[in-house]
Amino acid sequence: MNAGATSTAKPLDLPVLRERGQREVFCGLTGIVWLHRKIQDAFFLVVGSRTCAHLLQSAAGVMIFAEPRFATAIIDERDLAGLADANDELDRVVAELLARRPDIRLLFLVGSCPSEVIKLDLSRAAARLNETFRPRVRVLNYSGSGIETTFTQGEDACLASLVPSLPEAPANAAPGLLVVGALADIVEEQLARQFAALGVGPVRFLPPRRASDLPAVGRNTRYLLAQPFLADTARALEARGATRLSAPFPLGAEGTMRWLKAAATAWHINDAVFDRVTAPAYARARIAVARHRDELAGKRIFLFPDSQLEIPIARFLSRELGMQPVEIGTPYLHRAHLAEELALLPAEAVLSEGQDVDRQLDRCRAARPDLVVCGLGLANPLEAEGFATKWSIELVFTPIQGFEQAGDLTALFARPLARRTRLAA
Ligand code: SF4
Repeated sequence: MNAGATSTAKPLDLPVLRERGQREVFCGLTGIVWLHRKIQDAFFLVVGSRTCAHLLQSAAGVMIFAEPRFATAIIDERDLAGLADANDELDRVVAELLARRPDIRLLFLVGSCPSEVIKLDLSRAAARLNETFRPRVRVLNYSGSGIETTFTQGEDACLASLVPSLPEAPANAAPGLLVVGALADIVEEQLARQFAALGVGPVRFLPPRRASDLPAVGRNTRYLLAQPFLADTARALEARGATRLSAPFPLGAEGTMRWLKAAATAWHINDAVFDRVTAPAYARARIAVARHRDELAGKRIFLFPDSQLEIPIARFLSRELGMQPVEIGTPYLHRAHLAEELALLPAEAVLSEGQDVDRQLDRCRAARPDLVVCGLGLANPLEAEGFATKWSIELVFTPIQGFEQAGDLTALFARPLARRTRLAA
């Protein structure tokens, strides 16, 4: 396997700068923006405030022609003052919604900061509503609250809530592969073709496209994480007997190659078959990445903690494009899930976990990086100070996984530098 550069020596017990201070991140409700497109017969009912409704509408855009698949049940002053029974209100809203929308098969009650503040027990509400509306509709709940979360944790909480509903795989079933983490449909189809050509499978995806198509899980399930922010989902799958295949994440030519290789090894596919099947797409990905190498090689990059994709992204940018990560911030560091990534990082990169935003901004200003990857809230002020920035939220809205997307992933980082060069000219 040709896996690119090898000059790394990041020890797994590497020092990490830990910070606990003011953070600049979106909350877990943001995950609804991509999850409602993925599970096509699901509906996300946020139990929250007008602020939550505004966040969702501005992040997802207002759909004029399509029936939306998310909404907010507003907790108003009467609920907050304890003058109305929030459970009665919620039951009424859900009954009206399900009467009007017979297409809904899976309803998520999504908790928020206000629902947590008034201690509305959404797990009991979901159990009660599930009794009322099953078998037509399954009702689950999770929290998207901004208290102690970052925005990709919304997907983790959503998928973890689904795991107990997955059917049990028969004990004598042949081993199956479960790919875990929301991927664009086109990426899912490409990966499914790669696995089929390799002889790995049967392969299922979580989340599925339809609630009626939940994948079975059991002791014969091997799973590959497609996203690095799924700690709770992984824990829930392992409680059901599934085993994680350790791999870097499928970002860039090398990451995708190593990710597929982990599955091929578990299925005892020999190296010759693996190389024959993957070589054409791997070569295409290397060429697509190389198109931007001259623009990006040697450029210094600073990653603020936001999407939890920072470590795999820094690995890709350093190894395949020759960029120099100055600081790699991550909201949370899951050492086991990221072990293969950490081993590939350049030895000199500083890793930080958590955030104290003012101190981190000071470090960024002092380092004068060529490119800053950060959340929307920091991007405008940093641009005004003369930094080129990349919004990290684009990394979850854009199809970036797999060989065929490696060029698009590279272009995401080349564009802001090109724009700044044009502005400076
Ligand atoms: S859940 Fe909390 S952080 Fe998120 S929009 Fe609602 S109030 Fe704001």
